[in-house]
Amino acid sequence: MNRRKFLINGSTILAGLFIAKSPFSLYADHHEHGDHTHSYELPKLRYAFDALEPHIDKRTMEIHYGKHHQGYVNKLNAAVGNNHDLADQSIEDLLRNIDKVPMKIRQSVISSGGGHANHTLFWSTMIPGGRELKGKVAESLQSTFGSLDAAKEKFTNTAKTHFGSGWAWLVVDDNKKLQIYATKNQDSPFMQGHTPILGLDVWEHAYYLKYQNRRADYIDAWSKVVNWTQVNLNYTTAMKA
Ligand code: MN
Repeated sequence: MNRRKFLINGSTILAGLFIAKSPFSLYADHHEHGDHTHSYELPKLRYAFDALEPHIDKRTMEIHYGKHHQGYVNKLNAAVGNNHDLADQSIEDLLRNIDKVPMKIRQSVISSGGGHANHTLFWSTMIPGGRELKGKVAESLQSTFGSLDAAKEKFTNTAKTHFGSGWAWLVVDDNKKLQIYATKNQDSPFMQGHTPILGLDVWEHAYYLKYQNRRADYIDAWSKVVNWTQVNLNYTTAMKA
């Protein structure tokens, strides 16, 4: 059994569970077709569309996951489809090696590949009821930012004050240190050699139906469904990599 097959089987087994065994399975989204072409696929959602109510509403989930994320996947496949050197890579590796992507399709890979990776992480770090922030990532947040409250406040302010479309991130950087920052559009932290372990989508499409222009209310609601158990697992895996 090769690695890709194993990961596909692994993620099939994990479908329906709330915790992935490692972040790598979050990005094990390749499907191997009989004709040896590969394509990126929408990851399975680990909860129902209405499971995050009332914080994140069902209609937003349906459109955000089913239309927006699917759209990024479709555009990514259209961009890299015939280039096996690119399409055979995991989405993480594709973005980490963005400077090897031909200029002709690079922006398309940044936008749609970033969109695919970012949303894959986003879905996996939410869970009905949320989970307590503890473990190694809590210790590291405390020592890096002074306290858990200070870390949460920095993340929240980063998300609130980012102008226009983009994401707020908690990442493990290339020196294995935690950083909090925002990126514009669908720019992925992988492109600068960082590993995102928590991401918050602040595009209007993520909240407009329920919260309209009230981004702060959306961020507050999102904070109640964060799966810190998954974030801690993402952290410990990134630290070992
Ligand atoms: Mn989005």
